[in-house]
Amino acid sequence: SRDFRVVVLGSAGVGKSALVQRWVRGNFREAYLPTIEDTYRQALGCSHKAGALHITDTTGGRRYRGLQRLAIARGHAFILVYSITRKQTLEELKPLYELIRQLKGNNPQKCPVILVGNKCDESRREVSEKEGAAYACEWNCAFLETSAKMNINVQELFQLLINFEKKPAAAA
Ligand code: GDP
Ligand code: MG
Repeated sequence: SRDFRVVVLGSAGVGKSALVQRWVRGNFREAYLPTIEDTYRQALGCSHKAGALHITDTTGGRRYRGLQRLAIARGHAFILVYSITRKQTLEELKPLYELIRQLKGNNPQKCPVILVGNKCDESRREVSEKEGAAYACEWNCAFLETSAKMNINVQELFQLLINFEKKPAAAA
């Protein structure tokens, strides 16, 4: 099929579900609903011949490493989310990034990763934009700061993914 599977990864509470909800449904809720794994299917434009964007919203819990591994193995592109209000959540992405590279190889064109610093609406910041960008540079991936709450850069984030999908991997 022409489906393109995007996997959203990161620690609990960083706003993975909020980002996906914002994009898929256009809303935001304050209440925290722990996720195990949810999948969303969004049809791509008519030029995509029945293709769809599949978004897998994963859980951050260590107990679900097996599910995470499986989601990564099946994924075509990855969104790694941390919260700019908690430095630890950025550090916790490192093993996930390494697992992606281990399972998918080192070619960023074939397997794009986007690093996302969410909750950029918050004033109690622990991670500067510069620091986030430095990680992205080291990992050779795209970088965006977002707010699911205030709807900042959410459209841009998913548009980046859709653009990756349109570029044939063979061009790499
Ligand atoms: P997940 O565990 O990564 O899926 O995190 P959730 O999407 O469930 O969000 C965790 C908490 O952070 C919830 O209380 C959300 O309302 C809140 N949250 C999510 N995104 C944002 C954001 O962009 N800004 C702010 N201020 N809070 C957010
Ligand atoms: Mg969630």
